[in-house]
Amino acid sequence: MAQIVIYRGAEVAGKTAVAVSGGRILALGTGDELIGAFPGAIVRQVSGSFRPALLDGHLHLLAYGRALGEVDLARLDLAAACAALTAARARASGWLRGRGANAQLLRQLAAEPELLRRLAPLRIWAHDLHTLLTDPESARALGLDRHVPAGGAVELGPDGLPTGLLRETAALPLAQAAEEDEGGAEAAVNRAIQALWRHGIVGAVTFETPEGVKAVGAATGKLPFRAYVYETGHDIGSGARPHRMGHRSALVGAKFFLDGTLGSRTAWLVAPYADGPGRGLPRHDPEELRSRMRSLARRGFSVAVHAIGDAAAEAALDLIGPLPAADAPHRIEHLQLVRTGFAERLRATDVTASIQPCHLAQDLEDARRAWADRLDRAYPYRELAEAGVRIALGSDAPVEDPSPALGLHWALRADAVGGGRRHSLDLAQALQGYREGVYRSVGMRCENVGPGASANLALYAQGPEHGDGPVLVLSEGQEVFKADGAYVEA
Ligand SMILES: [Zn+2]
Repeated sequence: MAQIVIYRGAEVAGKTAVAVSGGRILALGTGDELIGAFPGAIVRQVSGSFRPALLDGHLHLLAYGRALGEVDLARLDLAAACAALTAARARASGWLRGRGANAQLLRQLAAEPELLRRLAPLRIWAHDLHTLLTDPESARALGLDRHVPAGGAVELGPDGLPTGLLRETAALPLAQAAEEDEGGAEAAVNRAIQALWRHGIVGAVTFETPEGVKAVGAATGKLPFRAYVYETGHDIGSGARPHRMGHRSALVGAKFFLDGTLGSRTAWLVAPYADGPGRGLPRHDPEELRSRMRSLARRGFSVAVHAIGDAAAEAALDLIGPLPAADAPHRIEHLQLVRTGFAERLRATDVTASIQPCHLAQDLEDARRAWADRLDRAYPYRELAEAGVRIALGSDAPVEDPSPALGLHWALRADAVGGGRRHSLDLAQALQGYREGVYRSVGMRCENVGPGASANLALYAQGPEHGDGPVLVLSEGQEVFKADGAYVEA
């Protein structure tokens, strides 16, 4: 019989102790009851409250894992960037990787050849991934001072040597060289999973390239983390079908883009932006997408469509509403602006609303300007919930931090966008969005915390809605994260 562990002293589904064995909850009760029932058990004294562990309804495991291995230079000035890079150089052997730098910071760094030499070998991506900064020696080692790839540019300094700034195709050989010692895609996914466990997250819906699909399948074969994978729709071959990848993950769907983003004013709108020309455009021809989606849905793929603007949302629903049903319902990603009556349409088609409240942290000011005349229809979380639409909440990591505390903060305060009270979820709706909503969005049943259920629990002093992170996280009964002092052995 598998080892039994009793955690006593914390609130758990109305009781004060839980016994865990073989990945499942064996029993709930008081500490004394459970110790009496299982005399050979290990007993651990805890405090606070156990909550069901959460899931993230939309993120990118491989990209998040890769981002975690890099220095985040977004919003840093030159002095702060130098400090962050120098500290990281002291910790890292091999390539030093950074990302998120703006054009001005890259130019300032490129003007510091001595600094770049100390940081070598170095690879920093600009925020838009079109420009890369390396150290002069690494550029020279790849012959980029003698031969510039077609479609690329290598910046030279007054001495005629590369400054390290490489643009477009000239960046690719360097990017490839810097990836070689990265430990591969599976190591990156492992890193992402470890980071998510610290946030009390034990599963996710993840959007991946073919490389990511493979890496997620391999990583979740070994680590207790559930992954429901959507692959880029254009990458899925004509014979492919949804399938399980080990017992914890599955390829369930295909993802397509209909528009861009609010920040770049490329979200596709019914009416022009309030603060500039144009109303965005569809990124792909909807007619062309239609037959592709139909073929995938017939083979059992759930179809997910990226739609941020209200015109994109309508077109997305026109496309996926009539598709044959798959094991996992079809879904729309982001839904940041909708037309009146959209929530009812969505409800009638059983399509999932996949929403990332933490985007509001970046979007709030943009939305107030771009959609000033239609704020009542922006971020309509409450309206969707009250219409009975299935809502799955997520973070879009690495675009935003995957902390549920951050997501809950914005889910509960979305009314800050203005335009009335159709935005904020209440706490019960939001927590449901981070668990039951995600399970149901992939066609899975959500278990109640009780005997027989998977032991997926997170122990908090108070709870994520208070800004707390967990101190102990169990995934399939394994202690996948444990803060110092999380328990004492009794
Ligand atoms: Zn995403």
